[in-house]
This record gives sequence, structure tokens and C-alpha cells, in this order.
Amino acid sequence: MKINKDYHIHSKFSKNNHAKSSIEEIVLQAIDRGLDEIAITNHGLSHVLYGFRKKHIPQIKSEIEALNKKYPEIKILFGVEANILSLSGDTDIEKDIIDNCDIILCGYHLFVKYKSFNDFWNLVILNRLAKRFGFRKEIQRKRNTQAIVSALNNNKMDILTHPGDKLIVDIEEIAKAAEKNNVILEINDSHTHLNTDEINICKNYEVKFAINSDSHIKDTVGSFESGLERAINAELDLEKIINLKI
Ligand SMILES: [Zn+2]
Ligand SMILES: [Zn+2]
Repeated sequence: MKINKDYHIHSKFSKNNHAKSSIEEIVLQAIDRGLDEIAITNHGLSHVLYGFRKKHIPQIKSEIEALNKKYPEIKILFGVEANILSLSGDTDIEKDIIDNCDIILCGYHLFVKYKSFNDFWNLVILNRLAKRFGFRKEIQRKRNTQAIVSALNNNKMDILTHPGDKLIVDIEEIAKAAEKNNVILEINDSHTHLNTDEINICKNYEVKFAINSDSHIKDTVGSFESGLERAINAELDLEKIINLKI
């Protein structure tokens, strides 16, 4: 049992040397691990530290096009891991992204251009206090959940990445919104979310799952062991994992 598609891989086009490998190095590793489809998903344009640059879109697209021809045994998608930018669910899934990407992932990250100071204060500062000291934890849980649910309701995305990572959330509400909007929930192999308890809750809804490596260097492309272990521990029906070859 292994994944045969990996929809979450960062490449050298990330700012500040955040990810190390070229797209071709990633493709070769993916072929070596027996994958038949991958997506190159750098952080969205609003990620101040690690996003890719808008001016690189044509170059990334043409590299992917050339590699798709050179290696017909694998399908390479141009994607993005977009960012949640406000409490009301704004994201950086904008026209440039929608027009160019084959697949859109979205998640909560730090170091992004929040819509307003209030969004930064709530989504970063108060969350740190809530996580570390339990300060207004339940209020934060509600706000965070609302931000993610609104992002799901108001944006076109395919996969919600690492739900529950870095933020306290009500995972059940997120699962309901994912079901309603037909968005796949990610079991991220690099982060610990979805964790077993979260999968256990989400499995009660009509949602699909993807185990992705969230690789930042070619060596981990196609890694899935920790994600699969969590899915098995949660007794998830493995048919619901879209990229698992049983
Ligand atoms: Zn992420
Ligand atoms: Zn990522």
C-alpha cells in the first residue's frame, strides 16, 4: 500500500531558499518512487517569506510543460498552496492563480500579508497566547474555525492543507464545510495534522482525503508512512483517500 500521487510539493521557486530542489529533480525522484502524478505547489504570492513570485509563473509553467513531454510516465501539475489572509476567509487565490493553476491547495500559515492589522492580531498574536497559555482559547477556536470555514465557502480550492496545524480549531465544523464545498482534507505527512483524533471526526462526513508529503526537498517526495499510520489508527475507510494505491 502506497500513495501513487503526491499533490503537495514545494520547489526551488520558493523565496529565501525555503525549498531546495528543482522541478526536474522532484520529477525524477517521483518517478523513482513509482508516482504517476505530482503537483508543484509553492506557497502563494502573499506569503512574505516563502511564497513564489508572480513574475515566475510563465517560467514555472513552461518548465512543467517541457517536463511533461520529457517524462510521459508522470503527470506534473502546476499548483499553489495558497494562504488564508483574514478572519472573514479572504485568501490569495486570485485571478493569476485561478487562471494558471491546475490544482489549488490552501492553508493557514504565518508570515503572510494579512488583510488588516486586526486579522494579524487575531490570527497570529492572540493565537499564540491561546496555544501557549490557554488565553481566550474557546473564543480563538471559534474565530479560527470561522476564518477557515469562510475560506472554504468563499474560494475555489481543491485541497485544504494540514487542517488544525498551528491553530486551535473545531475540526467538525471544518469537515462540514469541506463536505459542503467538495474540498479534500489533507493528511499531511510532514506535519502532524490531520491527526488520528481529527481523522476520526472527519470520517463521519462525506469528504475525501489526500495523504501528501509537503516535501521541501526531493528526498521526501512521495513520503506517506506517518499519514497512512494515522489514517489506519483512525479506522478510516482507505477508499476515501484519493491518492492511495491499495
Ligand atoms: Zn502549509
Ligand atoms: Zn506546504
